[in-house]
Amino acid sequence: MGGWTVTGGRDAIDAAAVRAFIQRYAALIEARREELTALDAAIGDADHGTNMDRGLKKALERLPEGEALPANVLKSTAMALLSHVGGAAGPLYGTAFLRAARAVEGLPALSPEDVLRAFQAALAGIEERGKAAPGDKTMVDAFRPAVEALETALRSDRSLEEALQAAHRAALAGSEATIPLVAKKGRASYLGERARGHRDPGSLSAALLFQAAAGEVPKKPGEDGGQIGGAAGR
Ligand code: ADP
Ligand code: MG
Repeated sequence: MGGWTVTGGRDAIDAAAVRAFIQRYAALIEARREELTALDAAIGDADHGTNMDRGLKKALERLPEGEALPANVLKSTAMALLSHVGGAAGPLYGTAFLRAARAVEGLPALSPEDVLRAFQAALAGIEERGKAAPGDKTMVDAFRPAVEALETALRSDRSLEEALQAAHRAALAGSEATIPLVAKKGRASYLGERARGHRDPGSLSAALLFQAAAGEVPKKPGEDGGQIGGAAGR
């Protein structure tokens, strides 16, 4: 399938790594909750941070223990987000995690190529469900460039860790690029021109998702650090 090399399975992502990714995403959302809500207060209804925080806390409560497959962890997270986030973002992120789970159904560990397929499926789910195009000032403006950067980096033989870091940078840039836009989808679209000058909150929660993913690539022996947790908000 893919044109890049999977380096000896060193980058393989098992269920424990996916759990750690969800835990890291929940922690990032909790840490940035007020900021997400403040962004939504400017162009929406001031609930995006609280919605996402509530849903991810439920996801943590439900995370399967033990020998779960990566797909089971993703599916359990999807169910928690669908049931507890509400608003526009709940069904969109819920669909994203559900599609990602289906893309890697049955696999005990994920290669970089599997990770790419999961993110591509997640993006397709968000786009099909929300019908937003790039430039509509939604989470798609962060999610799509991130997935494209992930693919480009992996096809250039970068490691999964480097590719996810590139995806995070692209998501942040895409999120920042929503600031001058007028919204075409979601509540912010009711504001017309008044939405200009404000970052889309869902684009930031999407960038945090890629930050969480980038932090959870297992370290190769002899390497230290490498997490991009300190890159928050850059
Ligand atoms: P609500 O707008 O219902 O209060 P949230 O505040 O939780 O829901 O989420 C708002 C975010 O959802 C927006 O910032 C935007 O990124 C995203 N969003 C809204 N509608 C769409 C859509 N049709 N497609 C993609 N993303 C969307
Ligand atoms: Mg809202």
